[in-house]
Order: sequence, then C-alpha cells, then structure tokens
Amino acid sequence: EAFTEGQIRLLTTVAVHTATVLTNGHLFQLIKTGKEEWEGTFDALANGIAVLDDRGLVRRANRAFAKIVDRPITEVTGLPFVAAVFGQSAEVASMLIQARGGARPPGLTLRSERLRRIFQVHAAPMPGAEGGSVVALVDDVTEQKALEAQVIQHEKMAAVGQLVSGVAHELNNPLTSIAGLADLLLEQSDTTVRTREHLSVVHEQAERAGKIVRNLLSFARQGQAEMGAVDLNDVARRTALLIGYEVRLREIDLRTELASDLTLVRGDRYQLQQVVVNLLTNAVQAVGDNPAGQPRLVTLRTRNADGRVLLEVEDTGPGVPDELLTNIFNPFFTTKEPGQGTGLGLSLSFNIVERHGGTLQARRGTLGGALFVMSIPSSRGPSAVTPASAPSAAAGSRRSKNVLVVDGDPAVRRMISALFSSDGHHVEAAPDAAHGVELLGQREFDLVIADPRASVPDGSAFADILLTRWPALRERTILATADVRPGTEEWLKGLGCRFFWKPFNVAELRAAAGEVLAAVRRKT
Ligand code: ADP
Repeated sequence: EAFTEGQIRLLTTVAVHTATVLTNGHLFQLIKTGKEEWEGTFDALANGIAVLDDRGLVRRANRAFAKIVDRPITEVTGLPFVAAVFGQSAEVASMLIQARGGARPPGLTLRSERLRRIFQVHAAPMPGAEGGSVVALVDDVTEQKALEAQVIQHEKMAAVGQLVSGVAHELNNPLTSIAGLADLLLEQSDTTVRTREHLSVVHEQAERAGKIVRNLLSFARQGQAEMGAVDLNDVARRTALLIGYEVRLREIDLRTELASDLTLVRGDRYQLQQVVVNLLTNAVQAVGDNPAGQPRLVTLRTRNADGRVLLEVEDTGPGVPDELLTNIFNPFFTTKEPGQGTGLGLSLSFNIVERHGGTLQARRGTLGGALFVMSIPSSRGPSAVTPASAPSAAAGSRRSKNVLVVDGDPAVRRMISALFSSDGHHVEAAPDAAHGVELLGQREFDLVIADPRASVPDGSAFADILLTRWPALRERTILATADVRPGTEEWLKGLGCRFFWKPFNVAELRAAAGEVLAAVRRKT
C-alpha cells in the first residue's frame, strides 16, 4: 500500500529529528573524546597548568598542578593561585594582573617559602575567554637550579683553584725552608731560651702558612684518589705524630683510644690523613684557646660499628654552636680571625669523606666540646698489624749514610742538607739534574731527595732519568714537588717512589727518610 502524503510528511519529520539526534550524539561523542584527550594530555605534562578566573582563583588545573600544591585533583578548583603556590608574592600577583590585561609578562623564577621549592611561573591571557581569565604555568625547577648552582660553584672553585695554585706554588719553597730550618735550630741545644721562643714562633707561623697552602693546593689538585686498603689506626697514629709539635707547644693532652681489632677501609690514605689532620688541627685550636683552668683535652678514637669504621675527634673546647652546624662544612666558612682560618679544612674533608662513600658529622660531645665523627664503610678482614709509629731518621743511622739532595731552590737544598747533616749523615746537594746525575755516577747513595722536575736542558724530567738509569734507587728516593699541574700526581704515583707535595712537613719527611734508611740498614 502506498504511503499517503501525510504519512510521508510525518516520517520525514521523524527522520530529520532522528538524523539530528544521531548527528548530535556523534558530535557529543567527538567532543567528549576530544575533551578527554586534552585532559589526558594536560595531565600527562609534568608542568603544572591552571586556568584562573578574574579573581585569581583556580577554575581548573591539571594533575601536575595538584601535585605541586599538594592537594587531591578534586580539591584544586577555587584555590587562590598565588597563596596556594607561594603563600605570598607581590611579584606573581602583579604578573597575573598584567596577563589579565592582555599582556604576556616575562616568566619569573622564585622560591616558595610555603612549599620550600623553587618554581618558574609563566602567565598568559586565555584566548577567547571572556572576563580576564588567565592560564598559568608552574614548573618545579628546584633540582635544575641546584644543579646550575653546583656547576657555577664548580666553575668558581676551578677559577679560584687556578688562581691560588699559582700563588701557593710560589710560596711552597720559601715556606718549606723556613719551617725546616727553624725546626732544626730548635733541636740544637746551644740556643738561649729567648732565642728558642722566637724560633718556636717562626716555626709555628711557617707551619701555619704551610698548612694553608697545602689546603689550598688540595682544592686545586683534586686528582684521582688512589684507592687501597687503609688502616685508620695507622693514619690516626701518624697524624698524631705529625701534629705532635703543636700539641706540645700548646700544652694539650692528646689521647688516642684506638680499637685493637679495627677493620680496614678502602680509600686513599693520604686523603684520609688530610681529613684527620684537619679535624685534629681544629680541635687543637679549639682547646688551645680555652681559658686557664679549663681542661685542654683532645681525644682521637677509632672503633668498628655495623660494617663501618668510625674515627672520632672530640675536644673540650667551646664546641660548635647549633646554629652554625649546617654552615661549617661550606667552603670559606670560618669564625676565626682573618689570617687564622681559611674555612677550607672542613669542606675539603667533607668532600674527601663523601668520595669514600662515608659521612662526616659534627655534634656536641659529652665533654661539652665539639665531636666530629667520620664514618667510612669497612672493607672485610681485620686490621693489618702495623708498627706503632714510623721509625725516626736517627733510629736507622748507626752508620752515617750518604744522602743526595737535588733541588733548584737554594733555600730548600740548604734546609734538607742541614736537616740530614745534623742527624750525622753525609749530604751532597745538586742544584740541577745534570749535577745530580754526575754525583750519582760517582758514588752510591742511600737516600735521594729530589725535585722530580729538577731542570734538565732537554725538557725531560729528572725523576724519569734517575729511575731509568738507577732503577734500584726507586725504594731509596723521596720526591718532593711543588708542581700541581694536572697529571703530576698520576705521574708521580706511576713512578712508584715515595713523594711529598711542597711545602712538606719536616716531621713527615724525617719519618719517610727514617723508613728508607732503616730498610737500607737491614739490607747491609
Ligand atoms: P677554619 O678552621 O679555617 O676556620 P674549617 O673548615 O676547618 O676552617 O672550620 C670551619 C669552622 O668550623 C671554624 O671556623 C669553626 O668555627 C668551626 N669548627 C671547626 N672545628 C671546630 C671545633 N673542634 N670546635 C669548635 N668549632 C669548630
């Protein structure tokens, strides 16, 4: 049966409506998918995005923004943007006003005291939206800023390092000879008390200057550490010996309480020794300033603790005030009088300990003074038995020994010559490599103390010539250099001789020479 005209009209109307509904449904689906897609996209971004109304309240925001302000995503709508992110910030508020007025203000990087992070914020007018809506973008740049600061700090330190290493280099030889000669004169018994007092001051001041130079040079150097098994008891004993002079001079009671079963650690013994030197020096200084009547006690302790080895330095000085505890490890932080402190000791020590996978902490000790605790992971196995102290030069010198000094600096030659002559040895000094080689060809030496780069006309190094021609002297040679150029440390270590950086400590040189001469004596 055919449709009537009326039926067709009705059907057409129904069909048109149906088609419209279907199209709308399809469009609705499209918009819903698009919306979800956009929301997904915004939520996938790590940057916080918020749309703000004309009063600066959040209309909507992505998940990253919710995370930044530490709220569930369902609770961000209606939050006042500036207060939620910064607590308070006139700069960000004015930035939003500019954006509301249609401008695109430059971004801002600010620290939020509320959230204790650093944020970068951008704001832009929302296109097409009526009534001053603004889109705000928030990035957490805390880590990036920390890295940048680190790079800048690193570059600064490198520049400072270069500068100081030049100056320090020039100071090395004079300081070595001043401290050494003063030390030597002090040992002579025919000086008057007054002269001895003056000499003590000369010695003390030269050593102090030397320590500053050594610390500065360590910053410039920061070479590769040579890792090996280290007995911290041995390091402790040697260091105590090294600062013995200052301890006696200031009438300080230095006690060592060393665990007899101490485990070894893996590390660079010279770097670790430097840490102990710095800690002990600080402790000695702290108790040295104690008013009369107050005990001047410094305790150096080692012990095993939970797979770690602890080395503690405790003193009866004034201690570190709580508010300074976070600052003392910063480079150049010092509370000492100008000229008394460089503020480098603890920061350098901190870096060294950190490179050993350990920690260095300061707190108040039970005696009321400062307690510094260095903790280093132990390597397995009990401590190697080591001699209680290095034998002194005199101990090995029943028979007078032949000593050769090769150094371009007359003051250093003079100081080393005087040091070993006074111990009863026969010393010859050469001002350059050619003279050194000539003397080495003429007779046998028990001990050679040389500047490894003592001048050779063809530019090669004296140490290389020495050890190629007389390999047997490797064990009898002590090299002392002021050369802090990169690569020097690796080269010296490769040579396999004992070596010192100038300005060296006379006690240290004596101890090393004593070891060499004792070995020579055992062989002969
Ligand atoms: P410096 O000794 O040249 O000042 P350091 O980095 O070694 O540099 O020490 C930084 C600061 O830490 C010192 O100036 C001092 O205020 C504090 N400090 C270090 N050791 C001690 C200690 N044993 N007792 C009290 N304060 C200390």
